[in-house]
Amino acid sequence: MNISILVFGSDHFLTELPDQIYEKTTFNLEANANLNQAVSLIQATPPDIVLIQASLDGSMELCSWLKEQTKLSLVHCILLEDRVELIALKQQGNWEWDQQMNVSALQQGADAYIWQKPEQKDASHPLLLAQIGVGVRKVQKYRDLIRTNDLLSAIALADSLTELNNRRALEWDLPRQISKARNNDTPFSLIILDVDYFKRVNDTYGHLVGDRLLQLLCTRIRHNLRFQDTPFRYGGEEFVVLLSNTAFQEAMVVANRLNRIVGEQPFAINNTLAIDVTISLGMACLKPEDDMKGVSLLDRADKYLLKAKSSGRHRVISYEHHRALISS
Ligand code: GH3
Ligand code: MG
Ligand code: MG
Repeated sequence: MNISILVFGSDHFLTELPDQIYEKTTFNLEANANLNQAVSLIQATPPDIVLIQASLDGSMELCSWLKEQTKLSLVHCILLEDRVELIALKQQGNWEWDQQMNVSALQQGADAYIWQKPEQKDASHPLLLAQIGVGVRKVQKYRDLIRTNDLLSAIALADSLTELNNRRALEWDLPRQISKARNNDTPFSLIILDVDYFKRVNDTYGHLVGDRLLQLLCTRIRHNLRFQDTPFRYGGEEFVVLLSNTAFQEAMVVANRLNRIVGEQPFAINNTLAIDVTISLGMACLKPEDDMKGVSLLDRADKYLLKAKSSGRHRVISYEHHRALISS
């Protein structure tokens, strides 16, 4: 795991840092003596750990600023105290004053306030290295958390049987696609499709065969879509396909292709069983009067799907310019 450490300090400060920091190949160390550029540098490429020379003008302000930034508050900020007059005071051993210095630094935003050694006879500094270790642990935990979060989002939005996006994913994606189409002034269409007489499959061969058929059907549908088409499992044996940047004619081509490729070849459940099924499809194109969430658009496509069912199944129905288009 690579850890990026951004160091703000003078050349002299940098030479006095423990060698171990430079030796670790997992650390990407970037040093900078100018605090004026700190904010833009950190914003451009947020580091995992920031190490700041306390005697630089604005060192404490930088710690405070970091903690105020929502997206940067996890950066581990170490303030290394190098001001000789303060180090001299610390050596007098005033416990309360020492505590107060610490409290003040932590309250202002530093995650660690460490004293530089009064005499740099050897370059080791176990406490500084330990604090860098704390930063590394924080980064590891944070990255694990992000990974888990991504995984949970994927699980929450995926249908476990077919591995397609589920209805929750559709509810999330549809409004976004509609607003994108409106902002870019591009057409947008939607297909709802439902397997014909699917109950018969379950009744005849059992639910496990029905499940397998749904999986095979989804794979076939997925392989016959274009890159801008997104399929979702809407419910039991009903699916929605969002067709971005697609107007009526092209959407009809996609819907007719799906209708054809499902019906033209049986689905091989196993070596001895192949089942023929067909689908019915309703297709609708986004209109200016449609709501932002896509409810009216979905509803329109669903009405065409019902028409496709009632008029004989295994067909696509859509509507344009007050003229019903039936294609089977
Ligand atoms: P129609 O042509 O009118 O759509 O007829 P249909 O039989 O497909 O319609 P209906 O809604 O009566 O039946 C759908 C069936 O799909 C009922 C339900 O048991 C089945 N089903 C829904 N989800 C699953 C699933 O995940 N696995 C299996 N095996 N069956 C499912
Ligand atoms: Mg059905
Ligand atoms: Mg159904």
